[in-house]
Amino acid sequence: MGNRLNGMIANTVFQVTSEPPIIAVSINKQNLTYEFICESKVFIVSILSKETPMEFIGRFGFKSGRELDKFKDLNYKLGITGAPIVLDNSVGYLEAEVISHTDVGTHTLFIGKVVSAEILKDAEPMTYYYYRNVKMGKVPITAPTYIKGGNKAMDRYVCTVCGYVYDPEVGDLDSGIKPGTPFDELPDNWTCPVCGADKGAFEKEG
Ligand code: FE
Repeated sequence: MGNRLNGMIANTVFQVTSEPPIIAVSINKQNLTYEFICESKVFIVSILSKETPMEFIGRFGFKSGRELDKFKDLNYKLGITGAPIVLDNSVGYLEAEVISHTDVGTHTLFIGKVVSAEILKDAEPMTYYYYRNVKMGKVPITAPTYIKGGNKAMDRYVCTVCGYVYDPEVGDLDSGIKPGTPFDELPDNWTCPVCGADKGAFEKEG
């Protein structure tokens, strides 16, 4: 707080009313962002594009601002409330002032009046469905011919920390791993693109 900035990935933000525009977001009380919103009484929702790299999702979704400055080396600007607007990978944003909040046990539901908003890029926003099913590797974006059985090199491996699936058919382009690279041939210093766990944290799928 003070001048410190933080952000996190929330899986759902929803509109409450349109006149005036009011939105709501549910935040886990253990998150640093929870403390920041409580104190500042403002928040900004930056809407990520479908093309957002997994490394970026990992930084905001699987790491805590208590351990790293998530805005380091990132393009951002401050909104009229002083909260940060993520410019990298964002299609647009909604800036809100908290007008109410509801305690829902592990989480708090913050309700905010939208005070500014802007479209930054003409691109498709990421949905939670797309993240779970496409980004996590459950459905390859392009579906190349899949040779079933007999080809152990093409076994998929699951990160036991975050659930990310390494699919050799897809590779990990964000880390320079070409499609067709078996898990065993990943470099030793390769880490989970989502949560940063090392290769030892992976188990063969199934
Ligand atoms: Fe992981």
